[in-house]
Amino acid sequence: MGSTGATATADDLRRVLLFPLPYQGHINPMFQLAGLLHSRGFAITVFHTHFNAPDASRHPDYHFVPVPGDGGMPTPAGDSSPDTVQATVKHVLAVNRACEAPFRELLAGLLARQPEREEDVACLVADAHLMTMLDVARELGVPTMALRTSSAARFRFFTAFPMLCDKGYLPARQESSSELDDAPVVELPPYRVGDLPSACSAAAHVNMREVISRAVTAVMTSSGLILNTFDALESDELASLRRDLPTAVPLFDVGPLHKLSPAASSSLLRQDRGCIDWLDAQPQGSVLYVSFGSLASMSSSDFEETAWGIAGSGRHFLWVLRPGLVPGAGAGEPPPLPDGFDAAAGGRCVVVRWAPQEEVLAHAAVGAFWTHCGWNSTVEAVCAGVPMLCSPCIGDQMGNARYVVDVWRNGLMLAGGEIERGKVAAVAALMGEGADELRRRAMELKSSAAESIGEAGSSSIMVDKLILELQRKRV
Ligand code: UDP
Repeated sequence: MGSTGATATADDLRRVLLFPLPYQGHINPMFQLAGLLHSRGFAITVFHTHFNAPDASRHPDYHFVPVPGDGGMPTPAGDSSPDTVQATVKHVLAVNRACEAPFRELLAGLLARQPEREEDVACLVADAHLMTMLDVARELGVPTMALRTSSAARFRFFTAFPMLCDKGYLPARQESSSELDDAPVVELPPYRVGDLPSACSAAAHVNMREVISRAVTAVMTSSGLILNTFDALESDELASLRRDLPTAVPLFDVGPLHKLSPAASSSLLRQDRGCIDWLDAQPQGSVLYVSFGSLASMSSSDFEETAWGIAGSGRHFLWVLRPGLVPGAGAGEPPPLPDGFDAAAGGRCVVVRWAPQEEVLAHAAVGAFWTHCGWNSTVEAVCAGVPMLCSPCIGDQMGNARYVVDVWRNGLMLAGGEIERGKVAAVAALMGEGADELRRRAMELKSSAAESIGEAGSSSIMVDKLILELQRKRV
């Protein structure tokens, strides 16, 4: 990475406290940020919940502080709830409530022991959804920065949420039609009505509104917002955020973080590296990689259609089937494949529980990525120059897919609603031969991502600004 080389010096040591929200898509960017800061001379302390606790042995240089309080609360695991959004939103509120008192005590204790330490605490960087922890830190006199692990556009949507409610876009109607879903959200282009997240009940909408409003306040009252995005990808959105944020809240668009950080993997599931050997034996650009991330789930009929679409396409696939992908199926194991699938797929499909995704996307054999469009997956595909087939499910995924399809034009929408086997096979075939323009755009985006972290690239400059800002901070 290009850098002007701002690094903490021996007589100016600083410790940064980090607190990730305990989901894979939030833990990964937080640990990538930790790796980046550590490589620039900062000492790292990671506060974490017991739920989805990180593996401290992979990060021997960091100090880990478990925050008790979340044991026994309902978790948003895909196989325990038919409505992942509602379960996740409730879980986020519960984590904030449960961790408040223990975090206050642990942080106060850490500050009391501060004179014995060689480094001064600079700041708490917490996930923006851990709004209570950001409040607690400020009350104890610790400067705070918020890390948001989704796009700049998504934060604009958060700030626009009250307006979208006033205008009647939200809560989204339960009955949807393709005409209504395709209507533009005129106040917030390029979103369409169907891209807005729907809550399945009035109570779910109230919870979502609370989380969004408190997460926005947490950012607005912090002393910095860190985003895993880069200027060439979201320049208009970033410019608009810079206009709207208070001047006391500088914005650091330091992405793509996974390219900047020497951090060890923070994967919660064991990544099956055997699939890399299989990829090594496949022709260039011949494999469609299929993964829907750590939280999204699908119905058993969508699962069957996906399987038969894959089997009928004649193409090669690497398919991530994690436990819980189909709620109720598999009992802690991945959902069982339909009878006859192995014979029909004819050895063209390799199935793994969890893949080393960054490595898979960077592999020459991978020609396209069928994805749920989680923000990390989207950024990882952009950086790898891999075109995307989008099957968004929940949260920010519909909005991310809208950008892929209509703004960046490096992907196609495969299924907004139900999956159908014929469509899977047809689109998979298109990715092989008829996708020159998608591939060209994907390669252009890959270059712009590489430029952003190169010498004098926009993200390299932002990283240096962030380092200087953190060096100035002290409790
Ligand atoms: N991931 C992985 N192996 C897999 C699937 C996903 O390591 O088989 C990683 C992926 O690289 C990404 C994260 O899990 O960093 C998923 O985050 P994302 O925001 O894409 O989706 P989420 O899981 O939050 O829905």
